Amino acid sequence: MAEIPYKIYLEENEMPQAWYNLRADMKNKPAPLLNPGTLKPMTFEDLTPVFCDDLVRQELDDTTPFFEIPDEIRSFYKMYRPSPLVHASFLEKALDTPAKIYYKFEGNNTSGSHKLNSAIAQAYYAKKQGLKGVTTETGAGQWGTALSMACSYFDLDCKVYMVKVSYEQKPFRREVMRTYGASVTPSPSENTQVGRKILEAHPGTTGSLGCAISEAVEVATSTPGYRYVLGSVLNQVLLHQSVIGLETKAALDKYGIHPDIIIGCAGGGSNLGGLIAPFMGQKLRGEDNYRFIAVEPASCPSLTRGRFAYDFCDTGMVCPLAKMYTLGSNFIPSANHAGGLRYHGMSSVLSQLYADGLMEAVSVEQTSVFEAAELFARVEGTLPAPESSHAIRTAIDEALKCKETGEEKTIVFGLTGTGYFDMTAYERFNDGKMTDTIPSDEELEASFATLPQVNL
Ligand SMILES: *Cc1c(COP(=O)(O)O)cnc(C)c1O
Repeated sequence: MAEIPYKIYLEENEMPQAWYNLRADMKNKPAPLLNPGTLKPMTFEDLTPVFCDDLVRQELDDTTPFFEIPDEIRSFYKMYRPSPLVHASFLEKALDTPAKIYYKFEGNNTSGSHKLNSAIAQAYYAKKQGLKGVTTETGAGQWGTALSMACSYFDLDCKVYMVKVSYEQKPFRREVMRTYGASVTPSPSENTQVGRKILEAHPGTTGSLGCAISEAVEVATSTPGYRYVLGSVLNQVLLHQSVIGLETKAALDKYGIHPDIIIGCAGGGSNLGGLIAPFMGQKLRGEDNYRFIAVEPASCPSLTRGRFAYDFCDTGMVCPLAKMYTLGSNFIPSANHAGGLRYHGMSSVLSQLYADGLMEAVSVEQTSVFEAAELFARVEGTLPAPESSHAIRTAIDEALKCKETGEEKTIVFGLTGTGYFDMTAYERFNDGKMTDTIPSDEELEASFATLPQVNL
Protein backbone atom coordinates (compact mmCIF):
# COMPACT_ATOMS: atom_id res chain seq x y z
CA MET A 1 0.00 0.00 0.00
CA ALA A 2 1.36 3.43 -0.95
CA GLU A 3 2.32 5.88 1.78
CA ILE A 4 -0.62 8.02 2.84
CA PRO A 5 -0.27 11.61 1.60
CA TYR A 6 -1.33 14.62 3.69
CA LYS A 7 -4.13 15.30 1.21
CA ILE A 8 -5.77 12.35 -0.50
CA TYR A 9 -7.21 13.43 -3.84
CA LEU A 10 -9.26 11.16 -6.06
CA GLU A 11 -8.93 11.46 -9.83
CA GLU A 12 -11.74 13.24 -11.66
CA ASN A 13 -12.90 9.93 -13.15
CA GLU A 14 -13.11 8.41 -9.65
CA MET A 15 -15.91 10.80 -8.72
CA PRO A 16 -19.14 8.89 -7.99
CA GLN A 17 -21.39 8.14 -10.99
CA ALA A 18 -24.48 7.77 -8.82
CA TRP A 19 -25.82 9.05 -5.51
CA TYR A 20 -26.54 6.41 -2.89
CA ASN A 21 -29.99 6.28 -1.28
CA LEU A 22 -29.44 5.00 2.26
CA ARG A 23 -33.19 4.51 2.77
CA ALA A 24 -33.05 1.52 0.43
CA ASP A 25 -31.02 -0.37 3.06
CA MET A 26 -32.98 0.79 6.12
CA LYS A 27 -35.24 -1.88 7.63
CA ASN A 28 -37.21 0.75 9.52
CA LYS A 29 -37.88 3.36 6.87
CA PRO A 30 -38.12 7.01 7.88
CA ALA A 31 -41.75 7.96 8.56
CA PRO A 32 -43.51 9.64 5.61
CA LEU A 33 -44.21 13.36 5.42
CA LEU A 34 -47.84 14.05 6.34
CA ASN A 35 -50.26 16.47 4.75
CA PRO A 36 -50.95 19.02 7.52
CA GLY A 37 -54.63 19.22 6.53
CA THR A 38 -55.57 15.54 6.22
CA LEU A 39 -52.70 13.95 8.22
CA LYS A 40 -52.38 11.42 5.34
CA PRO A 41 -48.92 10.67 3.84
CA MET A 42 -47.98 13.25 1.22
CA THR A 43 -48.39 11.91 -2.30
CA PHE A 44 -46.59 12.84 -5.53
CA GLU A 45 -49.59 15.05 -6.40
CA ASP A 46 -49.50 16.78 -3.00
CA LEU A 47 -45.83 17.63 -3.32
CA THR A 48 -45.39 18.65 -6.96
CA PRO A 49 -46.98 22.11 -6.54
CA VAL A 50 -44.14 22.84 -4.09
CA PHE A 51 -41.12 20.88 -5.40
CA CYS A 52 -39.86 19.89 -8.87
CA ASP A 53 -41.25 16.57 -10.14
CA ASP A 54 -37.93 14.68 -10.27
CA LEU A 55 -37.03 15.85 -6.78
CA VAL A 56 -40.39 14.65 -5.45
CA ARG A 57 -39.66 11.23 -6.99
CA GLN A 58 -36.34 11.17 -5.15
CA GLU A 59 -38.00 12.39 -1.95
CA LEU A 60 -40.58 9.59 -1.92
CA ASP A 61 -38.34 6.73 -3.09
CA ASP A 62 -37.34 4.48 -0.18
CA THR A 63 -36.28 1.52 -2.31
CA THR A 64 -34.02 2.51 -5.25
CA PRO A 65 -30.45 2.25 -3.94
CA PHE A 66 -28.70 4.34 -6.61
CA PHE A 67 -29.65 7.40 -8.65
CA GLU A 68 -27.37 8.19 -11.56
CA ILE A 69 -25.84 11.68 -11.32
CA PRO A 70 -26.73 13.51 -14.58
CA ASP A 71 -23.72 14.55 -16.72
CA GLU A 72 -24.57 18.26 -16.37
CA ILE A 73 -24.29 17.97 -12.59
CA ARG A 74 -21.11 15.91 -12.75
CA SER A 75 -19.49 18.49 -14.97
CA PHE A 76 -20.39 21.26 -12.46
CA TYR A 77 -19.06 19.08 -9.62
CA LYS A 78 -15.72 19.01 -11.47
CA MET A 79 -15.24 22.72 -10.64
CA TYR A 80 -14.66 21.83 -7.00
CA ARG A 81 -14.77 18.03 -6.68
CA PRO A 82 -13.47 15.52 -5.86
CA SER A 83 -12.83 17.32 -2.56
CA PRO A 84 -9.74 16.35 -0.57
CA LEU A 85 -9.67 13.93 2.35
CA VAL A 86 -7.00 15.40 4.58
CA HIS A 87 -4.86 13.46 7.05
CA ALA A 88 -4.83 15.89 10.01
CA SER A 89 -1.27 15.03 10.98
CA PHE A 90 -0.60 18.49 12.43
CA LEU A 91 -3.63 18.18 14.68
CA GLU A 92 -2.58 14.68 15.76
CA LYS A 93 0.82 16.06 16.70
CA ALA A 94 -0.65 19.02 18.61
CA LEU A 95 -2.88 16.64 20.59
CA ASP A 96 -0.08 14.10 21.05
CA THR A 97 -2.59 11.34 20.35
CA PRO A 98 -2.07 7.86 18.94
CA ALA A 99 -5.40 8.30 17.09
CA LYS A 100 -5.38 8.84 13.33
CA ILE A 101 -7.57 11.75 12.27
CA TYR A 102 -8.87 12.49 8.78
CA TYR A 103 -11.29 15.14 7.59
CA LYS A 104 -13.26 15.53 4.39
CA PHE A 105 -13.01 19.19 3.37
CA GLU A 106 -16.11 20.60 1.65
CA GLY A 107 -15.22 24.30 1.93
CA ASN A 108 -13.27 24.55 -1.31
CA ASN A 109 -15.81 26.47 -3.37
CA THR A 110 -17.00 30.09 -3.32
CA SER A 111 -20.15 29.30 -1.32
CA GLY A 112 -17.77 27.90 1.28
CA SER A 113 -19.72 24.78 2.22
CA HIS A 114 -21.08 21.39 1.21
CA LYS A 115 -24.47 22.96 0.39
CA LEU A 116 -23.46 23.45 -3.24
CA ASN A 117 -23.64 19.65 -3.77
CA SER A 118 -27.42 19.72 -3.43
CA ALA A 119 -28.00 23.27 -4.75
CA ILE A 120 -26.66 22.33 -8.18
CA ALA A 121 -28.79 19.18 -8.26
CA GLN A 122 -31.96 21.03 -7.32
CA ALA A 123 -31.30 23.82 -9.84
CA TYR A 124 -30.66 21.22 -12.55
CA TYR A 125 -34.02 19.49 -12.04
CA ALA A 126 -35.84 22.85 -11.97
CA LYS A 127 -34.23 23.79 -15.29
CA LYS A 128 -34.99 20.38 -16.77
CA GLN A 129 -38.66 20.88 -15.90
CA GLY A 130 -38.65 24.20 -17.78
CA LEU A 131 -39.26 26.34 -14.70
CA LYS A 132 -38.47 30.06 -14.54
CA GLY A 133 -37.02 30.05 -11.07
CA VAL A 134 -36.91 28.83 -7.50
CA THR A 135 -37.47 30.33 -4.06
CA THR A 136 -35.79 29.49 -0.79
CA GLU A 137 -34.91 30.73 2.66
CA THR A 138 -31.50 31.26 4.14
CA GLY A 139 -30.30 31.94 7.66
CA ALA A 140 -26.65 32.86 7.88
CA GLY A 141 -26.51 32.68 4.09
CA GLN A 142 -24.54 29.59 3.10
CA TRP A 143 -27.48 27.87 1.46
CA GLY A 144 -28.64 31.05 -0.30
CA THR A 145 -25.13 31.58 -1.61
CA ALA A 146 -24.83 28.03 -2.88
CA LEU A 147 -28.23 28.20 -4.56
CA SER A 148 -27.41 31.56 -6.18
CA MET A 149 -24.29 30.03 -7.72
CA ALA A 150 -26.24 27.02 -8.96
CA CYS A 151 -29.06 29.13 -10.42
CA SER A 152 -26.70 31.44 -12.26
CA TYR A 153 -25.04 28.37 -13.81
CA PHE A 154 -28.39 27.16 -15.17
CA ASP A 155 -29.77 30.67 -15.84
CA LEU A 156 -32.66 30.35 -13.38
CA ASP A 157 -34.22 33.14 -11.32
CA CYS A 158 -33.47 32.79 -7.61
CA LYS A 159 -35.54 34.48 -4.88
CA VAL A 160 -34.01 34.21 -1.43
CA TYR A 161 -35.85 35.03 1.82
CA MET A 162 -33.14 35.82 4.33
CA VAL A 163 -33.78 35.90 8.08
CA LYS A 164 -33.90 39.64 8.83
CA VAL A 165 -31.27 39.65 11.55
CA SER A 166 -28.77 37.96 9.21
CA TYR A 167 -29.75 40.23 6.31
CA GLU A 168 -28.81 43.20 8.45
CA GLN A 169 -25.79 41.72 10.24
CA LYS A 170 -24.27 39.74 7.35
CA PRO A 171 -24.23 42.16 4.42
CA PHE A 172 -21.32 40.38 2.74
CA ARG A 173 -23.18 37.09 2.28
CA ARG A 174 -26.14 39.04 0.95
CA GLU A 175 -23.91 40.76 -1.60
CA VAL A 176 -22.36 37.48 -2.73
CA MET A 177 -25.87 36.23 -3.50
CA ARG A 178 -26.73 39.39 -5.41
CA THR A 179 -23.45 39.15 -7.30
CA TYR A 180 -24.60 35.75 -8.56
CA GLY A 181 -27.89 37.32 -9.63
CA ALA A 182 -30.28 36.35 -6.81
CA SER A 183 -32.84 38.72 -5.31
CA VAL A 184 -32.62 38.80 -1.51
CA THR A 185 -35.56 39.87 0.69
CA PRO A 186 -35.36 40.25 4.48
CA SER A 187 -37.88 37.99 6.24
CA PRO A 188 -40.51 38.51 7.54
CA SER A 189 -41.54 40.76 4.66
CA GLU A 190 -44.66 42.50 3.43
CA ASN A 191 -44.52 40.43 0.19
CA THR A 192 -46.43 37.46 1.57
CA GLN A 193 -49.57 36.77 3.57
CA VAL A 194 -47.67 34.77 6.13
CA GLY A 195 -45.01 37.50 6.43
CA ARG A 196 -47.67 40.18 6.99
CA LYS A 197 -49.38 37.99 9.59
CA ILE A 198 -46.16 37.40 11.50
CA LEU A 199 -45.25 41.11 11.36
CA GLU A 200 -48.67 42.02 12.70
CA ALA A 201 -48.39 39.57 15.59
CA HIS A 202 -44.72 40.36 16.34
CA PRO A 203 -43.84 43.86 15.15
CA GLY A 204 -40.10 44.40 15.17
CA THR A 205 -39.30 40.66 15.02
CA THR A 206 -35.86 39.86 13.60
CA GLY A 207 -37.21 36.73 11.91
CA SER A 208 -36.43 33.03 12.04
CA LEU A 209 -35.64 30.25 9.60
CA GLY A 210 -39.08 28.71 10.10
CA CYS A 211 -40.73 31.99 9.18
CA ALA A 212 -38.52 32.51 6.10
CA ILE A 213 -39.42 28.97 4.94
CA SER A 214 -43.13 29.81 5.17
CA GLU A 215 -42.60 32.92 3.04
CA ALA A 216 -40.51 31.16 0.39
CA VAL A 217 -43.06 28.34 0.09
CA GLU A 218 -45.92 30.80 -0.28
CA VAL A 219 -44.14 32.68 -3.07
CA ALA A 220 -43.24 29.44 -4.89
CA THR A 221 -46.77 28.04 -4.78
CA SER A 222 -48.43 31.31 -5.79
CA THR A 223 -46.07 32.27 -8.65
CA PRO A 224 -46.42 30.37 -11.97
CA GLY A 225 -43.17 28.70 -13.08
CA TYR A 226 -41.61 28.65 -9.62
CA ARG A 227 -40.91 25.91 -7.11
CA TYR A 228 -39.43 25.89 -3.64
CA VAL A 229 -36.06 24.32 -2.78
CA LEU A 230 -34.60 23.48 0.63
CA GLY A 231 -30.95 23.06 1.59
CA SER A 232 -31.15 20.45 4.34
CA VAL A 233 -33.46 18.07 6.27
CA LEU A 234 -35.19 16.52 3.23
CA ASN A 235 -34.48 12.99 1.99
CA GLN A 236 -33.50 14.32 -1.46
CA VAL A 237 -30.84 16.59 0.08
CA LEU A 238 -29.28 13.69 1.99
CA LEU A 239 -29.31 11.73 -1.28
CA HIS A 240 -27.34 14.45 -3.11
CA GLN A 241 -24.94 14.85 -0.18
CA SER A 242 -24.07 11.14 -0.36
CA VAL A 243 -21.40 12.29 -2.82
CA ILE A 244 -19.41 13.35 0.30
CA GLY A 245 -19.51 9.89 1.85
CA LEU A 246 -18.95 8.02 -1.41
CA GLU A 247 -15.80 10.03 -2.14
CA THR A 248 -14.63 9.64 1.46
CA LYS A 249 -15.05 5.89 1.26
CA ALA A 250 -13.29 5.66 -2.10
CA ALA A 251 -10.34 7.69 -0.78
CA LEU A 252 -10.06 5.60 2.40
CA ASP A 253 -10.34 2.33 0.46
CA LYS A 254 -7.63 3.47 -1.93
CA TYR A 255 -5.16 3.55 0.96
CA GLY A 256 -6.61 0.65 2.94
CA ILE A 257 -7.74 2.87 5.82
CA HIS A 258 -10.63 1.63 7.97
CA PRO A 259 -12.36 4.28 10.09
CA ASP A 260 -13.56 3.36 13.59
CA ILE A 261 -15.48 6.56 14.30
CA ILE A 262 -17.24 8.88 11.82
CA ILE A 263 -18.26 12.28 13.13
CA GLY A 264 -20.30 15.13 11.67
CA CYS A 265 -22.02 18.27 12.85
CA ALA A 266 -25.79 18.14 12.61
CA GLY A 267 -28.10 21.06 11.86
CA GLY A 268 -30.78 19.59 9.64
CA GLY A 269 -28.58 16.55 9.06
CA SER A 270 -27.59 16.81 5.41
CA ASN A 271 -23.78 16.74 5.59
CA LEU A 272 -23.81 14.07 8.29
CA GLY A 273 -26.37 11.99 6.43
CA GLY A 274 -24.28 12.27 3.27
CA LEU A 275 -20.96 11.54 4.96
CA ILE A 276 -22.13 8.43 6.78
CA ALA A 277 -24.40 7.06 4.01
CA PRO A 278 -22.18 4.36 2.43
CA PHE A 279 -20.69 3.35 5.79
CA MET A 280 -24.11 3.14 7.45
CA GLY A 281 -25.26 1.12 4.44
CA GLN A 282 -22.54 -1.44 5.19
CA LYS A 283 -23.55 -1.49 8.85
CA LEU A 284 -27.23 -2.00 7.95
CA ARG A 285 -26.34 -4.84 5.57
CA GLY A 286 -24.17 -6.45 8.28
CA GLU A 287 -20.97 -6.07 6.23
CA ASP A 288 -18.97 -3.83 8.56
CA ASN A 289 -19.27 -1.82 11.74
CA TYR A 290 -18.50 1.78 12.66
CA ARG A 291 -19.43 4.28 15.38
CA PHE A 292 -21.29 7.31 14.06
CA ILE A 293 -21.54 10.49 16.13
CA ALA A 294 -23.82 13.45 15.40
CA VAL A 295 -22.67 16.66 17.08
CA GLU A 296 -25.11 19.44 17.88
CA PRO A 297 -25.02 22.70 19.84
CA ALA A 298 -26.06 22.49 23.51
CA SER A 299 -28.23 25.53 22.84
CA CYS A 300 -30.20 23.74 20.09
CA PRO A 301 -30.13 20.05 21.10
CA SER A 302 -32.75 18.38 18.90
CA LEU A 303 -31.35 14.81 18.97
CA THR A 304 -30.04 14.74 22.54
CA ARG A 305 -32.98 16.48 24.22
CA GLY A 306 -35.77 16.68 21.64
CA ARG A 307 -38.91 14.55 21.16
CA PHE A 308 -39.22 11.98 18.36
CA ALA A 309 -42.59 13.13 17.05
CA TYR A 310 -44.43 14.58 14.08
CA ASP A 311 -43.89 18.33 13.91
CA PHE A 312 -44.12 21.23 11.52
CA CYS A 313 -41.01 22.02 9.50
CA ASP A 314 -41.75 25.76 9.61
CA THR A 315 -43.20 28.36 11.97
CA GLY A 316 -46.05 29.32 9.64
CA MET A 317 -47.26 25.68 9.63
CA VAL A 318 -47.72 25.61 5.85
CA CYS A 319 -45.19 22.80 5.23
CA PRO A 320 -45.85 19.07 5.65
CA LEU A 321 -45.38 17.41 9.02
CA ALA A 322 -42.22 15.38 9.42
CA LYS A 323 -41.50 12.75 12.07
CA MET A 324 -38.20 13.75 13.56
CA TYR A 325 -36.37 14.63 16.72
CA THR A 326 -37.64 18.14 17.34
CA LEU A 327 -37.56 20.93 19.89
CA GLY A 328 -40.91 22.26 18.61
CA SER A 329 -41.34 24.44 15.55
CA ASN A 330 -41.46 27.63 17.65
CA PHE A 331 -38.16 26.90 19.37
CA ILE A 332 -35.56 29.62 18.80
CA PRO A 333 -32.09 29.21 20.30
CA SER A 334 -30.86 31.82 22.76
CA ALA A 335 -29.83 35.14 21.18
CA ASN A 336 -26.18 34.69 22.14
CA HIS A 337 -25.91 31.43 20.18
CA ALA A 338 -23.40 32.05 17.39
CA GLY A 339 -22.44 28.65 16.07
CA GLY A 340 -25.18 27.97 13.50
CA LEU A 341 -27.02 24.62 13.42
CA ARG A 342 -30.13 26.40 14.71
CA TYR A 343 -32.89 24.38 13.05
CA HIS A 344 -35.48 23.00 15.51
CA GLY A 345 -35.74 19.55 13.89
CA MET A 346 -33.58 16.87 12.27
CA SER A 347 -33.72 14.82 9.05
CA SER A 348 -36.22 11.94 9.32
CA VAL A 349 -33.56 9.53 8.05
CA LEU A 350 -31.09 10.44 10.79
CA SER A 351 -33.88 10.60 13.37
CA GLN A 352 -34.92 7.03 12.56
CA LEU A 353 -31.31 5.77 12.65
CA TYR A 354 -30.81 7.46 16.01
CA ALA A 355 -34.07 6.05 17.39
CA ASP A 356 -32.92 2.59 16.28
CA GLY A 357 -29.63 2.95 18.15
CA LEU A 358 -27.52 2.92 14.98
CA MET A 359 -26.01 6.36 15.58
CA GLU A 360 -24.90 8.30 18.66
CA ALA A 361 -25.36 12.00 19.37
CA VAL A 362 -23.61 14.48 21.63
CA SER A 363 -24.15 18.15 22.33
CA VAL A 364 -21.32 20.63 22.88
CA GLU A 365 -21.18 24.16 24.27
CA GLN A 366 -20.18 26.97 21.95
CA THR A 367 -17.15 28.26 23.87
CA SER A 368 -15.62 24.77 23.68
CA VAL A 369 -16.51 24.68 19.97
CA PHE A 370 -14.64 27.92 19.31
CA GLU A 371 -11.65 26.70 21.36
CA ALA A 372 -11.50 23.68 19.06
CA ALA A 373 -11.93 25.91 16.00
CA GLU A 374 -8.98 28.08 16.98
CA LEU A 375 -6.70 25.17 17.72
CA PHE A 376 -7.64 23.67 14.36
CA ALA A 377 -7.05 26.93 12.48
CA ARG A 378 -3.66 27.39 14.10
CA VAL A 379 -2.31 23.91 13.43
CA GLU A 380 -4.13 22.78 10.25
CA GLY A 381 -4.28 26.21 8.60
CA THR A 382 -7.92 26.22 7.49
CA LEU A 383 -10.29 28.65 9.23
CA PRO A 384 -13.31 26.44 9.96
CA ALA A 385 -16.98 27.42 9.92
CA PRO A 386 -18.47 27.46 13.44
CA GLU A 387 -20.87 24.70 12.31
CA SER A 388 -18.02 22.45 11.21
CA SER A 389 -16.18 23.19 14.44
CA HIS A 390 -18.77 21.17 16.36
CA ALA A 391 -17.41 18.10 14.57
CA ILE A 392 -13.82 19.24 15.23
CA ARG A 393 -14.64 19.52 18.97
CA THR A 394 -15.88 15.95 19.16
CA ALA A 395 -13.08 14.58 16.95
CA ILE A 396 -10.58 16.19 19.35
CA ASP A 397 -12.43 14.78 22.37
CA GLU A 398 -12.35 11.27 20.89
CA ALA A 399 -8.65 11.65 20.01
CA LEU A 400 -7.90 12.75 23.58
CA LYS A 401 -9.72 9.67 24.90
CA CYS A 402 -7.37 7.59 22.72
CA LYS A 403 -4.44 9.38 24.31
CA GLU A 404 -5.65 8.20 27.73
CA THR A 405 -6.24 4.63 26.68
CA GLY A 406 -3.40 4.36 24.17
CA GLU A 407 -5.83 3.13 21.49
CA GLU A 408 -4.92 3.88 17.87
CA LYS A 409 -8.43 4.54 16.60
CA THR A 410 -9.06 6.05 13.20
CA ILE A 411 -11.39 9.04 13.30
CA VAL A 412 -12.98 10.64 10.23
CA PHE A 413 -14.93 13.87 10.46
CA GLY A 414 -16.65 16.23 8.04
CA LEU A 415 -15.16 19.71 7.72
CA THR A 416 -18.22 21.20 6.06
CA GLY A 417 -16.98 24.70 5.37
CA THR A 418 -14.92 27.79 6.02
CA GLY A 419 -15.69 30.58 8.50
CA TYR A 420 -14.67 33.81 6.76
CA PHE A 421 -18.16 35.27 7.11
CA ASP A 422 -18.41 34.36 10.79
CA MET A 423 -15.78 36.70 12.14
CA THR A 424 -18.17 38.55 14.48
CA ALA A 425 -18.63 35.25 16.30
CA TYR A 426 -14.87 34.70 16.38
CA GLU A 427 -14.49 38.30 17.60
CA ARG A 428 -16.82 37.64 20.51
CA PHE A 429 -14.82 34.55 21.39
CA ASN A 430 -11.47 36.35 21.09
CA ASP A 431 -12.76 39.18 23.29
CA GLY A 432 -13.80 36.66 25.95
CA LYS A 433 -17.41 37.74 25.57
CA MET A 434 -18.88 34.47 24.35
CA THR A 435 -21.11 32.67 26.82
CA ASP A 436 -22.99 29.37 26.82
CA THR A 437 -26.75 29.34 27.19
CA ILE A 438 -28.46 25.99 27.49
CA PRO A 439 -32.26 25.82 27.42
CA SER A 440 -33.84 24.64 30.69
CA ASP A 441 -36.08 21.57 30.87
CA GLU A 442 -39.01 23.92 31.57
CA GLU A 443 -38.36 25.90 28.39
CA LEU A 444 -38.21 22.71 26.35
CA GLU A 445 -41.38 21.32 27.97
CA ALA A 446 -43.21 24.54 27.09
CA SER A 447 -42.05 24.15 23.50
CA PHE A 448 -43.03 20.43 23.36
CA ALA A 449 -46.53 21.42 24.50
CA THR A 450 -47.00 23.09 21.11
CA LEU A 451 -46.28 19.91 19.11
CA PRO A 452 -49.21 18.95 16.86
CA GLN A 453 -51.30 16.04 18.11
CA VAL A 454 -50.89 13.25 15.59
CA ASN A 455 -52.23 9.84 16.55
CA LEU A 456 -51.33 7.23 13.99
C1 LIG B 1 -25.58 24.52 6.65
C2 LIG B 1 -24.31 24.09 7.20
C3 LIG B 1 -24.21 23.04 8.13
C4 LIG B 1 -25.41 22.32 8.70
O1 LIG B 1 -26.32 21.76 7.84
P1 LIG B 1 -26.56 20.20 7.72
O2 LIG B 1 -27.73 20.08 6.84
O3 LIG B 1 -26.82 19.67 9.11
O4 LIG B 1 -25.35 19.62 7.15
C5 LIG B 1 -22.97 22.65 8.55
N1 LIG B 1 -21.85 23.26 8.13
C6 LIG B 1 -21.90 24.28 7.26
C7 LIG B 1 -20.62 24.92 6.84
C8 LIG B 1 -23.12 24.73 6.76
O5 LIG B 1 -23.15 25.74 5.89
